[in-house]
Amino acid sequence: MKVTFPHMGNLYICVKGMLEFLDIEVILPPASSKRTLTLGAKYSPEFACMPLKLNLGNLIEASELGADTIMMAGGCGPCRFGYYAQIEHSILQDLGYKYNLVVLEPPEKHITELTSRVRQITGKKSWWKVIQAIKYGYLKSRAVDEVELMSFKIRPRELVTGETDRALAEALKEIDRAGNMQELKLAEVRGKEIMNDVAVDSRRPVIKVALTGEIFTLLEPFANLNIERHLGRLAVEVDRSIYLSEWINDHLFMGLLKGIRSTKEYCRSAAPYLNHFVGGHGLETVGSIPVYARQGYAGVIQVFPFTCMPEIVAESILPKVSAANDIPVMTLIMDEHTGEAGMVTRLEAFVDLLERRQNRGYTMKNAK
Ligand code: SF4
Repeated sequence: MKVTFPHMGNLYICVKGMLEFLDIEVILPPASSKRTLTLGAKYSPEFACMPLKLNLGNLIEASELGADTIMMAGGCGPCRFGYYAQIEHSILQDLGYKYNLVVLEPPEKHITELTSRVRQITGKKSWWKVIQAIKYGYLKSRAVDEVELMSFKIRPRELVTGETDRALAEALKEIDRAGNMQELKLAEVRGKEIMNDVAVDSRRPVIKVALTGEIFTLLEPFANLNIERHLGRLAVEVDRSIYLSEWINDHLFMGLLKGIRSTKEYCRSAAPYLNHFVGGHGLETVGSIPVYARQGYAGVIQVFPFTCMPEIVAESILPKVSAANDIPVMTLIMDEHTGEAGMVTRLEAFVDLLERRQNRGYTMKNAK
């Protein structure tokens, strides 16, 4: 069995780590690229959201490398994600790709539905070993998030353009290469040292902008056209409303691990504007705006793929949330036709607006 799964940013580091902990052979698709998107868009329904197209491209490219089993998460809606795995599998079958599909989704009637699916991947490995593998994958995701968080602070202050990107890639490689718990601890320390070695100007004025929106587009740099990197180069310190390890703790561990940021705060803050689940992360997007306003962020950027239903619902509410919390919000919608240069122009204009607003606020406060 040669297992593959689609990319979503650095998710591959923890899923690959988890599977290899169980001695399962993993075939990683190449990092998402123009070819991936072209392949996916060619064979997907035109109005499918972009993550489906990129997933499909990833799976075609993984099959070319010999993968024979797809492991994917599933869901029960209300957005299209609940059908992703089945649709992608059908398209691949029609195209002649031979894949077994294992969908890990909440059981309809009994927990054994889920455990039997897990068994298709793990074989006869003991549940104790499976739990250790999950813990190991989670710790990898935490290590990845730690160095990414450092990159958000360092990039807008770096003295040599591109140094943060180089250091981050090196730190992630260390974490990816770690083969057991002990090595992972050392890799995390080493990764942080690599990040701390980037020369910075700590007195450079920066502004803080948060990214919120649909999880795939937030986490996958190819889908968001490297928005974090572009903002960093505009002297913006970025935060993201979703990190992988937080998502795992909230959704898979039911918030059991304490002291980790949770999206529950977003759901509470969304209540005056939207008080029910709308699929995906639409509710969290709405609620993240008041939270970031309270934390003193200069602005928020909502990012989502064209035709994403939950985020369209959120977008329609955001003008009210933005006005009520006195924080500018910009929306960027991504699809296969979105150009990087156009996006950078919009980012520059937004950052310019935020800087003027901050300076004006400063002048007005001083005039009082
Ligand atoms: S959240 Fe949006 S982009 Fe993701 S599957 Fe649902 S509709 Fe598509």
